[in-house]
Parts: sequence; structure tokens; C-alpha cells
Amino acid sequence: YEIMPSLVGSEMCIRDRRMAKRSITTEFTNEDAGIETSLRPQYLREYIGQEKVKSNLKVYIEAAKERGDSLDHVLLYGPPGLGKTTLAGIVANEMGTNLKITAGPAIEKPGDLAALLTNLNEGDVLFIDEIHRLSRSVEEILYPSMEDFAIDIITGKGQMAASYHLPLPKFTLVGATTRAGQLTAPLRDRFGVVLRLELYTPEELAQIVERSAGILGIKIEHDGALEIASRSRGTPRIANRLLKRVRDFAQVMSNGVITLETARTALDRLEIDELGLDRNDRRMLEAIVRFYNGGPVGLETLAAAIGEEAVTIEDVYEPYLLQIGFVSRTPRGRCITAEACKHLGCEFP
Ligand code: ADP
Repeated sequence: YEIMPSLVGSEMCIRDRRMAKRSITTEFTNEDAGIETSLRPQYLREYIGQEKVKSNLKVYIEAAKERGDSLDHVLLYGPPGLGKTTLAGIVANEMGTNLKITAGPAIEKPGDLAALLTNLNEGDVLFIDEIHRLSRSVEEILYPSMEDFAIDIITGKGQMAASYHLPLPKFTLVGATTRAGQLTAPLRDRFGVVLRLELYTPEELAQIVERSAGILGIKIEHDGALEIASRSRGTPRIANRLLKRVRDFAQVMSNGVITLETARTALDRLEIDELGLDRNDRRMLEAIVRFYNGGPVGLETLAAAIGEEAVTIEDVYEPYLLQIGFVSRTPRGRCITAEACKHLGCEFP
């Protein structure tokens, strides 16, 4: 898989390549590249769910437009696939400006950031995904550019050194991160608007699935949409991907219409259970029960036991399992809950 190499760091690509086999991964995969652009809502009114985020953003956008000013810098945080990039595009559309997209690991040197910033036009939106992965030296140029809309660049060394003060157009930085805690305090403080995205409810996801089905010309019944939605881990990216997979089954198994029946059969065949857990999640949960008597077990130990990387467990498996109360995090490690054992059909240790 070649995944947007210009936007995402190489480490991320390797992880994506490993995760691409899971249909319920929240990461952006090559499979999504074909459909995501066409499915992205363009304006706030098309963006489903996240009511609090939407109503706040609407006020800020309207106020900035009335003043004829650019929007304050916005920080979006929440797990992958919830609509952060989509929101950045919406901000640009609502403000009537352009969007430039990049990612923290792609900006290696201060010069890379300087080149990006000096190419912006007045009012443009610059979206930096994974902003917590910017290097210190890049962050140091970002601060003054966010605050004063200018950067100071030093060229040459010793007696040949010269300093240039470059004024920048007034732009809006939209930063996205899955880990707000990893952002340095000075960077976080420079965002005027900080918004947290939540996992979506099955009803909201069903609306998203129905909207996507409409755009892709897929016939779907509400029950079918709800079935896909409830197995999508609260994440639109997964819901859209499962919709595409289920469509194939509907086409071959019935008359192409996604009903509750076809959705159920297809998702069972994909080994995604009613709560959206797949074989990998179950393997991890069973390992905690079988090898560690229900926990606590340290993250690294657990990772070694199931042949995964600790960071994959932390970023991909765990957020949803924590959210549905299947795993708990204690100072001594991860524990399984009685609820999870009930779901797996095993005895709670
Ligand atoms: P993130 O940047 O948080 O990883 P994206 O913005 O790339 O997530 O969203 C992933 C996909 O999910 C998009 O292609 C979009 O079609 C869909 N999506 C996300 N949020 C919404 C929403 N609120 N309404 C409809 N579709 C959405």
C-alpha cells in the first residue's frame, strides 16, 4: 500500500500497511482514497452529528466573516476517522478560502514550514494533521507565525549570517491530533478555538451511511444502515468502508439492496461482531483472560503476547474497547472487565 507518502511520515505508512488488512482500522488506507473525497461533506449543514462542535464553529465562522477577518486558529482532537480533515475543509469552504493539507511528520525542517507558509494567500486554511508530531525546531517557527503572522529566517553562518523578517498573509491554522496530551503547552495555548470530537452514536452513523449510499448510488434500507452503523465503532471512516464491503455482498447475494438481513450476513462473513469487534480485538481480550488471568498486564507484555506493537494496541485497539467498557487501564496495566467476558462467553477470572 502506498499511502499519501507526501502527507504522512514513513513510520505511519508502515503501520498503515500492517493495519490495512483490518476492515475496521480507523487509519486512512488506500481503499479509502477512492471514496473519501467524494463522500466528504463540504459545508457545516451537511456535516452529521458533533452538534456541540458544529454550533460553536458556526458562531466563530459567522463572527469572523462579519468582521471581515480570518478565523482564529483551531485545534481539533479525537481518534482517527471522526472527521477532522473534513471539518478543516468545511472551515475553508464556509470562509470562502482555500485549504492546504499537510501532516506533522511531513514537515521535517523549519525551511519546509517556511515554504508552506509563504505560499499561503490571505485567509487560507492550513491543515496540519498529527500536529503533535512536529519537531521542536519546526514548532519554534510556528509560534511567531501563528501569533504575529511573520517569520524570521536566518541564512548562512558566522560572518555571512543574515536574518530576514518575512511577513505572512493572515491565515488560519487548523491542527488535528489524536493525542491532545502530547501537544506542548505553548503550542496548545496558541489555538483560540479547541474542539474535541466524540465517537458517533449508531443513529448518527446510520445517517452518514445513508448519505454515503445516496452519493454512491447504493440502495439501502434504514435497518441495514443501522446494522452497519452499530458495528462501525462510532467512526464514520469505518462505516463508509463497511458500506462498500456490504454492497458487494448485497449485489451477489440478493438484488443489490442492503437490507438488515444482507448487512448481518455480510458483516458476519467479515467476522465483525455486533459490537464491531473483529478477530484481532477478540484475540487480545482472550489473551488477557487466558495468559494473565484477566490482568493487570503491562502494555508491552500484552503486545509481545499477541505479536502486535504497543503503539498499535494503544492507538487502534484500545480507544474503542475502553469506550465500551471492555478494558480498563490501571497503573499496573490493562485489565479485562466482566462485561467483556460476558460478550466473549468466558468466565470472568
Ligand atoms: P479524520 O481527519 O478525523 O481522520 P476524516 O475527516 O478524514 O477523518 O473523515 C473520514 C471520512 O468520514 C470522510 O471521508 C467523511 O466522508 C466521513 N465523515 C467524517 N465525519 C463525517 C460527518 N460528520 N458526516 C458525514 N461524513 C463524515
